[in-house]
Amino acid sequence: MPETVLTCENCEIEISPVQVTCEHCGFPIAGTEKEKSIFFGKQIANKAAIRHAGKLQRRSSYILYIIGGFQIVTGGLSYRNYHLREEFILYAFIGLIFMTFGYFSSKKPILFISLGLGLILLLYALDFILDPSSILSGILWKIVIVGTLSYALISSFEEQKIKKKNKSL
Ligand SMILES: [Zn+2]
Repeated sequence: MPETVLTCENCEIEISPVQVTCEHCGFPIAGTEKEKSIFFGKQIANKAAIRHAGKLQRRSSYILYIIGGFQIVTGGLSYRNYHLREEFILYAFIGLIFMTFGYFSSKKPILFISLGLGLILLLYALDFILDPSSILSGILWKIVIVGTLSYALISSFEEQKIKKKNKSL
């Protein structure tokens, strides 16, 4: 008698005939046709959510690079105009940190987008303490930056939750 191998209809992993749901992807093996099509529908939505999170993570990574570059240029200009070497070193250092966060945010999005967001909020807070009116300078950019990073972070948590529940995604 030939040995038949049962596989999951969704992720094609090998399953045993007694299994009710697939351990790998959560597919309702013993479910009704309706339950199965609901599962496939959810699967499409989950994939879309993961793609969306990926897009926001890439956008956050660019934003962190741009902030980093901007810090370095700002430091460079103040060095050229006022010969403030310490200020240049400080700005360049902060700029490099942002760029590092930008680089790693595509690998570990939750950690590095959080760090980037934390650092930018800290800098805004320090600016505010030194000069409260500074909060208004480039306020639109600040809103865009904080908004994009926060949104990416929320989507990344969502993505993590989906992936934890469904190992096949
Ligand atoms: Zn499966």
